[in-house]
Amino acid sequence: MHLDIRTLFLVAVMTMTLLGLVSLTFASLRPGNPAIRLWGASLLVLAGGLVLIVLRGVIPDVLSVVVGNMVTVAAIVLGYRSLRMLRAQPLRDYLGWVLVLAITASAAFYLYVEPNITLRVVFFSAVAAFLLFRNAWLLGHDAPSDARASHRITAGIFGFFGAVHALRSAAVWVIGRPEDLMAPHLPDAVLMLVTMAAIICATLGLLWLEVRRLQHDLAHLASIDQLTGALTRRAFSSEFAREVSRRERDKGSFGLAMFDIDHFKRINDEHGHLVGDELLRAIADSLRQGLRAHDVLCRYGGEEFVVLMPGADKAAATAVADRARRSIEHRGWITDKSGIVITVSAGVSAYPEDGRDWDALIGAADAALYTAKRRGRNCVVAAAADPSSALSA
Ligand code: GH3
Ligand code: MG
Ligand code: MG
Repeated sequence: MHLDIRTLFLVAVMTMTLLGLVSLTFASLRPGNPAIRLWGASLLVLAGGLVLIVLRGVIPDVLSVVVGNMVTVAAIVLGYRSLRMLRAQPLRDYLGWVLVLAITASAAFYLYVEPNITLRVVFFSAVAAFLLFRNAWLLGHDAPSDARASHRITAGIFGFFGAVHALRSAAVWVIGRPEDLMAPHLPDAVLMLVTMAAIICATLGLLWLEVRRLQHDLAHLASIDQLTGALTRRAFSSEFAREVSRRERDKGSFGLAMFDIDHFKRINDEHGHLVGDELLRAIADSLRQGLRAHDVLCRYGGEEFVVLMPGADKAAATAVADRARRSIEHRGWITDKSGIVITVSAGVSAYPEDGRDWDALIGAADAALYTAKRRGRNCVVAAAADPSSALSA
């Protein structure tokens, strides 16, 4: 098998360019995160550096050797910068840029002052190894627990790639290498193949990290209501199912209170929807303040909230709901125009008294809420109870 170095360089240039473009396209899917965009740009810079190096003999040496080496190492430093962005770390990297200068100076020195291709390669590979190990360390240590595997595997790829360069640096130091960089030379051909494989894998690894982040963001968006910060109905239904299975196991109880703001349409009509939104947020805060750490607040509908109270029986849940109702009634709701009186009504149900599943318990709380509205609002009614269960009106 004959592995022509120049052909391998050209294949590498094409591969880096394509991966760079894929990364840039991927980055455009998620505006506001420049890390993958910078990674794509660093691959294009790397492709540019390789083009300069492969044109040895065709363009002046200063371009091919000095600028070529400088651009190639600058690409690795840019790549590191993108990884720091990905890990949300400060971007200062004086060391990286000092090494770019050092590589540029050493390339010029060993080209013009004391021509020595062996030392040039030894120095270049040693610096590349150091920079790649630095990438590996950055990704691998303190990896976030929800994406540990993707971080560690990508770090491993950088570590392996760094080890290959360290080996090359040592081997060239001991054995030397042919004067002509483009002459057939099996170790360099293998290095090019490893470089391509490592960069393909590292790019796929980074895109994988990014997909994990997207998944995480989407899950967060789907589970937290943007206006009030309460759980969405979708996330709440999972919490609810978990609570039911816990209580089935320990034969315990939990309470459910469904709140609905009284005459909220009127508030929107009189003060505008922006004020309505502000009040919704404030009411959610007010409900949250009255809860214990493991109680769960959900925005069930437009201006309806449900609170799940683990461990509470119906009497306790009704008392909590009524305390929340009173604190909302007595809080002064001041808008830019005037004070507004806001009240809420609530219906309360409890597991297992009123049922053991979503339909039964939500249905019971909803029916109780309807009763509370019919009784004139600003009151709390416990489900399926006799009329005296209204605590206040
Ligand atoms: P009731 O006392 O019977 O509950 O009267 P109500 O006017 O509150 O009636 P309802 O509970 O049906 O209120 C629904 C209204 O809530 C409709 C809509 O104007 C308002 N609403 C729902 N979601 C939002 C929201 O996200 N922002 C604002 N500003 N208003 C909302
Ligand atoms: Mg409503
Ligand atoms: Mg309402």
